Amino acid sequence: MSLLRLDDVYKSFGDHDVLRGIDLEVAQGEVVALIGASGSGKSTLLRTINLLEPIDDGRIVLGGVDISDPRVDVDAVRARIGVVFQQYNLFPHLTVQHNITLALRHVHRMKKSEADAAATALLQRVGLADKAAEHPDRLSGGQQQRVAIARAVATSPELLLLDEVTSALDPELVGEVLDLVRDLADDGMTIVMATHEMAFARDVADRVVFLDAGRILEQGPPAEVFGAPREERTREFLARFT
Ligand code: ADP
Ligand code: MG
Repeated sequence: MSLLRLDDVYKSFGDHDVLRGIDLEVAQGEVVALIGASGSGKSTLLRTINLLEPIDDGRIVLGGVDISDPRVDVDAVRARIGVVFQQYNLFPHLTVQHNITLALRHVHRMKKSEADAAATALLQRVGLADKAAEHPDRLSGGQQQRVAIARAVATSPELLLLDEVTSALDPELVGEVLDLVRDLADDGMTIVMATHEMAFARDVADRVVFLDAGRILEQGPPAEVFGAPREERTREFLARFT
């Protein structure tokens, strides 16, 4: 059974149809890369899954629960999903440690001592134990994104959504963030990520999904989509990255 399933999902803003009938299934442990031009609907798709945008039609099912049902407990759904955006993920007025413990205490109702121990272990794992007491603005962009990812997985979500998490970074900082994503993928985390890092998608994703004007135009294993795209639009899009 799939962990996540979108059935014929539609979303428009005013008269602009942004998602136009999205069908997508994601299996437990699968890593799916969403690619497509700017404006094709990648962020909107991720935001609908996290219930940041209500959908107009269709259905979104997570772990057997219809999370697009208006009666759903939004906080309970969000507690099952980790999300990291392009930037501004961390609370600037809180230390790195506190950014992580806040999530643990809020979502898992952990005691402070318990949350502190978990945060310390997590920061160690992402190689940032020495930054625990710093505020985010004292960290590089790459370090901030690593903390943001650590915080997103601290609560052991079933699903991790990543929206162009390296797009705002200087090129030399991209690698350390992608390495962490790769680690999580290797660990079995289910990940749906919008990315412009084609080499990374080819390397890490189990499946690549090409969005074109709010529709999935083509999808498949990276070797197929990148190596032998079936659709002209996919070829045109990919040509920009070579
Ligand atoms: P992508 O992430 O692929 O660049 P987005 O999902 O951000 O695409 O945007 C898809 C389209 O939806 C764009 O044309 C964008 O301007 C529009 N859009 C996104 N969010 C909103 C919003 N809150 N209100 C109006 N239009 C929006
Ligand atoms: Mg986007």
